[in-house]
Amino acid sequence: MPAGNKKSGTFRKVFRKASGGKTVVHYKKKKPKQHSCASCGKKLIGIPRLSPVKMQNTPKTKKRPERPYGGILCSACTRKKITSESRS
Ligand SMILES: [Zn+2]
Repeated sequence: MPAGNKKSGTFRKVFRKASGGKTVVHYKKKKPKQHSCASCGKKLIGIPRLSPVKMQNTPKTKKRPERPYGGILCSACTRKKITSESRS
């Protein structure tokens, strides 16, 4: 029986093979959800799903695409935004 705090849904089960052939259950923290586009809500690619602590040790260049609105808008919405800005 898992400990009380492991039953709440905060943790996910990870099955690991232990030496001797036994399968043991490890409890790991769930990953945060994928970031989404601020305009259309589409899931953003190029952004790792890491915990805030691990994000602190990740280089900035690996946390979002290096373009205007990178990490905020998806590529299609960025294209629309830039073309509308240049027209007006
Ligand atoms: Zn979008």
